[in-house]
Amino acid sequence: MTNRFISLFFLIITQLFLTPYTSFSQSKDDAEINNRRNVILMIGDGMGISQIYSVMAATPDKLNITRCTNTALVITSSANDDVTDSAAAGTAIATGTKTNNGSIGVDSANKPLESMLKIAERNGLSTGLVATSDITHATPASFIASVQNRGMTDDIAKQFLDTDIDVFIGGGLNAFSKRKDSINYIDSLRAADYNIATSLEELEKYHSGKLAGLLYPEHAPKIIDGRGNMLGNATSKALELLSKNESGFFLMIEGSQIDWGGHDNDINYLQTELLDFDKAVGIAIDFAEKNPETLVIVTADHETGGLTLIESKTNKGKMNPVFSTDHHSGSPVGLFAFGKEAEKFNGIIDNTDIFKLILSTYGFNK
Ligand code: MG
Ligand code: ZN
Repeated sequence: MTNRFISLFFLIITQLFLTPYTSFSQSKDDAEINNRRNVILMIGDGMGISQIYSVMAATPDKLNITRCTNTALVITSSANDDVTDSAAAGTAIATGTKTNNGSIGVDSANKPLESMLKIAERNGLSTGLVATSDITHATPASFIASVQNRGMTDDIAKQFLDTDIDVFIGGGLNAFSKRKDSINYIDSLRAADYNIATSLEELEKYHSGKLAGLLYPEHAPKIIDGRGNMLGNATSKALELLSKNESGFFLMIEGSQIDWGGHDNDINYLQTELLDFDKAVGIAIDFAEKNPETLVIVTADHETGGLTLIESKTNKGKMNPVFSTDHHSGSPVGLFAFGKEAEKFNGIIDNTDIFKLILSTYGFNK
């Protein structure tokens, strides 16, 4: 026998003896990995398809959104309007139920609804919210609060204390500390074992435990006014803290100000916010590549500005982004999926289907 056959012989013999043990430990590892589920839901507020393509066409590097493997179109209408606002759209995504414009976490009869964040929490997962707006603003609020009107920010802040959310990072310090009722909810957060960070530097200090990152008095500044890498750092910090839970986590990350660029009909504001959001998408997809039990969803709550890309009159052969409104529009938005069970996100779906599809990925009975 040649040396090669001898080593092959021994390899087969060793395998025969070791197989029962290896397959046992293998199946245990698989079971652990199969039980763990992470969902990173990324909402570009007001981020329509023209918004994304206007940045794709103007940017030499590929956008991280293009790394997603599956795509769907999402109908965004609310219970009482073809053109939704962020409160009703956030509620539809977070709870699977359509409601009236302006309402947060309640149905159109004002009955409170349970969000996917709260369902994840009830099933033992860690949960988090990250936004570039006040953290009590409509989109993040839809995952944490139940109020009839999105303007009830003091109530929304108070309702953070009714949950066991592990990490939230954004603006909105004043909603907790400078309130009409004079209650200091920063003290209440400390009493509930939250570490408090009021600046990006402070955020980096914490590597375990619950974290309330209230980095600005109200909204975060625009990227063009020097916000820096707040969204990227907040995304990385949230992933660092939430991924310690062996059962998995739910994290919603919002690029809040893409919408405000649309309302202002300011294409530079819009595009710089979208590029910043796309960097956070890159961080989420990098995480999902290393942690295959992770599903990343990138979508929008609605389109803002009625943006169209018409032929340029002055710059021949180029397109010119033109806004048709300073409000939202009823155009469907894109949904882009990557990672665990991304292939389920296909075709033309309703915004309430996002809730159902994410819950089925977790496999909760409810
Ligand atoms: Mg928003
Ligand atoms: Zn808006």
